[in-house]
Amino acid sequence: MGMVSNRVERGDIKPGDHIYTYRAVFAYSHHGIYVGGSKVVHFTPRQITNSSVEASPDPYDSSSPSSCPTFPDCGFRQPQSGVTLSCLDCFLGKGALYCFEYGVTPTIFLAKVRGGTCTTASTDPPDLVIHRAMYLLQNGFGNYNIFQNNCEDFALYCKTGLLVVDNLGVGRSGQASSAIGAPLAAILSSPLKLLMPSPVGVATITAGMYCMSRYATDIGVRTDVMKVAVEDLAINLGWGEEA
Ligand SMILES: [Zn+2]
Repeated sequence: MGMVSNRVERGDIKPGDHIYTYRAVFAYSHHGIYVGGSKVVHFTPRQITNSSVEASPDPYDSSSPSSCPTFPDCGFRQPQSGVTLSCLDCFLGKGALYCFEYGVTPTIFLAKVRGGTCTTASTDPPDLVIHRAMYLLQNGFGNYNIFQNNCEDFALYCKTGLLVVDNLGVGRSGQASSAIGAPLAAILSSPLKLLMPSPVGVATITAGMYCMSRYATDIGVRTDVMKVAVEDLAINLGWGEEA
């Protein structure tokens, strides 16, 4: 795994890894969590029909008959859920395999040519990562758009348990605030010490101001994120109440 490219071979990835691929045809990177057994859990947008920007066919749309020759359950997802289980072949298509890096130093983070390939946030143990991915696969997200239809956010959450507070609508309205349970409110009111950059990390931020905006949006640095257990997502967001 070099400084510029995170390209890896299939034999190099382990269950719980955050992998991604560049899909040339669709000109975007697609992210997922490798859960072992040649299976990947990833998030694909569902409500794309009224957007001209995303009118291109969903390459992972499981409503069409599975064309996967290897696994009959490839493309599985709950109704109304964007969380999909695919085999590694279907996830990659013809794209190359890359592994998202966690716990990188701010210096390495800023040295990366492309955004969206690494984070200063540290990953949780693989079994917890896989647990989050499989839990969300089984339970979906309801109608909540907490990941902003972003497969990278989904993978980042599975790896770290961190959610950006803004996405939850915290403080946006009284109604939204009341939907947040007391335990979550307690977390929000306490200093997010674990998420603060270390003094060493701060000292290394001398690479230039042009990097600062990108650095400041890294989930491992920003202070408007919080750790949320996957089981608490539904509770804190009041999923059952939203039709
Ligand atoms: Zn497949």
